[in-house]
Amino acid sequence: MKSHSEHYVKAQKVLDSYLKEHKLRKTQERYALLEAAYSFDAPFDIHDMEEQMKDSIYRTSLSTIYNTFILLEKAHLLLRCKPDGRYSKFIANYNTNARQYLICSKCGLVRSVAVPRVNRSVQLTKWPRFKAESYTLYVSGICYSCQRKIYKQQITTHDETR
Ligand SMILES: [Zn+2]
Repeated sequence: MKSHSEHYVKAQKVLDSYLKEHKLRKTQERYALLEAAYSFDAPFDIHDMEEQMKDSIYRTSLSTIYNTFILLEKAHLLLRCKPDGRYSKFIANYNTNARQYLICSKCGLVRSVAVPRVNRSVQLTKWPRFKAESYTLYVSGICYSCQRKIYKQQITTHDETR
């Protein structure tokens, strides 16, 4: 049994007070899903979570996962990013390891990248009347393999019209 990460411990407290404040039940499934969410290193979708929960003692249907994700999103424990026309991907908000992501708007590929210069400027910025805790940067665009597909398609259409 692995020990809980400090990120999860922090998230757990946030969920405790969110459920209390909104008079919602502290179900074990909700905490199990929160813990699983905080075990991902990369952005994940509901199907990744379904896979992750396969061996869990909690029987979580897709709709339970989906509803819990909405709840966790409202509690700011999950962040949602949505590549065009794709399933939403989620990121655990208090996992501070990776904070910068490149998202392909064609295929939905998400890659985490390190941008130390951006990190430094965010840390050095003084925000008036605001205590910053974390930040996430998404850069959307087209990944290399989609660029190549588009390029090939352009060549083919060009040949056909000749
Ligand atoms: Zn792509």
